[in-house]
Amino acid sequence: CGIIGYVGPRQSQDILMSGLARLEYRGYDSAGIAVIDGEGGLGMRKRAGKLAVLRDDLVDRPMPDGTTGIGHTRWATHGGPTDVNAHPHLADDGKLAVIHNGIIENFAELKSELVGEGFSFRSDTDTEVAAVLLGREYAATGDLAQAFRAVVARLEGAFTLLAMHQDSPGVVVGARRNSPLVIGLGDGENFLGSDVAAFVEHTRNALAIGQDQIVVITPTGVEVTDFAGSVVEVEPFEVTWDA
Ligand code: GLU
Repeated sequence: CGIIGYVGPRQSQDILMSGLARLEYRGYDSAGIAVIDGEGGLGMRKRAGKLAVLRDDLVDRPMPDGTTGIGHTRWATHGGPTDVNAHPHLADDGKLAVIHNGIIENFAELKSELVGEGFSFRSDTDTEVAAVLLGREYAATGDLAQAFRAVVARLEGAFTLLAMHQDSPGVVVGARRNSPLVIGLGDGENFLGSDVAAFVEHTRNALAIGQDQIVVITPTGVEVTDFAGSVVEVEPFEVTWDA
């Protein structure tokens, strides 16, 4: 439902949580964040319920912060609103985290293919199929953008997908089909959001990502390609409404 991603020099937990608060107007039943810390570890917390439940959990059970992070508010379509079904979802290796808006229509056949290969699943979501597929492709190539290109070719339906891997700190990759995703351009930091509300308190310089495109953000760079991997020009715009 609501999506935010961050790469930059700042600790990301507060940026993710306040971005999710600004996306609350969309409605949601669960929320979660994942961060990559300086030592290359991946931390994740996700809870059914309001953002306050997640916020309290982060106070009660603090996790290491990190300067690369993703956050999600979920509106359940596949699998009930539980802690386990909340996003992010992890790949098999536990090192790659994924958040997703939309519906992967062919998730059942993809899931049985992956179960046949020996992968196991923790949740009832369609999203976890994308996480496991991305983990499988990342293991084969070590390149997140390449993994995304292989995976989006297999997915049917509507999706905005964001992922990061603990072995690639400082990189968040996103893809979209029939579901929105925008880039926020900061000074030495960059953002992704399901809409500009996710990052408007940090920057008003934005880029619109087109249909069937993949974006790679680092603290100082943004690259947008089509699903085949060809670089595409994106349209800059300025957010003019009051935050
Ligand atoms: N289909 C996914 C799920 O049920 C994502 C729902 C959403 O857009 O929040 O977990």
